[in-house]
Amino acid sequence: VIVAQDVEKWYDNGFHVLKGVSLTVNRGEVVVIMGPSGSGKSTFIRTFNALEPYQKGRIEIDGILISHDLKDIEKVRKEVGMVFQQFNLFPHLTVLQNVTLAPIWVRRWPKRKANEVAMQLLERVGIAEQAKKFPGQLSGGQQQRVAIARSLAMQPKAMLFDEPTSALDPEMVREVLDVMRELAGEGMTMVCVTHEVGFAREVADRVVLMADGMLVEEGTPDAFFNNPQEERSKKFLSQIL
Ligand code: ATP
Ligand code: MG
Repeated sequence: VIVAQDVEKWYDNGFHVLKGVSLTVNRGEVVVIMGPSGSGKSTFIRTFNALEPYQKGRIEIDGILISHDLKDIEKVRKEVGMVFQQFNLFPHLTVLQNVTLAPIWVRRWPKRKANEVAMQLLERVGIAEQAKKFPGQLSGGQQQRVAIARSLAMQPKAMLFDEPTSALDPEMVREVLDVMRELAGEGMTMVCVTHEVGFAREVADRVVLMADGMLVEEGTPDAFFNNPQEERSKKFLSQIL
């Protein structure tokens, strides 16, 4: 369970990027965050695994307070996986090595176990046959699926996705969304920043709209897309639908 309560953040230059954001994500829930560019979506979900500090409010993940305490931060990063728009794979490591790195060094798994689990995950995201290649030898969609497998290798309790398909060619979007859809079907707790309306409609339990550092509206996909209440949501939807 992720609980964010009245989270406020200022960047060093004084810019008030999060203006009291509250969101609860229950176990097994899939929440999609949408909103205009610059509204603070990335900043917000990056506070969930302490990639961004915040100044006010509180964020708890399964009872662990995300604060400045390094021990807690480490704990949370083990439990919360994150997938970015730019896959952030290690270019000098093979696909398999990318996936086994954290389990071996952070979880202290023996190499054999890490390899076994990694191969199962690569199988699951449909790229087991690419295990010995380097990221640069894969398509964008394949790289993103490696990134997802790499996160899953840590057996996270929740997964954060920040526009995972935005950097992909259209024909590769589908294969990544399929993996995410499956993950959701298996009961993974997920927070996804994405503008993929089809995915949101089909997979999200809730959709929230973020604008100007605030959550403006929150609802089921049906309510949000078919009957938005707030002017800001209507305007946003008119731009993307
Ligand atoms: P996008 O859809 O383009 O990814 P976003 O909703 O994810 O946008 P953020 O990346 O969270 O938006 O950025 C929110 C705001 O904070 C933007 O106006 C951005 O310019 C500003 N910002 C981001 N990083 C910094 C920083 N390090 N210092 C100052 N301002 C920043
Ligand atoms: Mg962003």
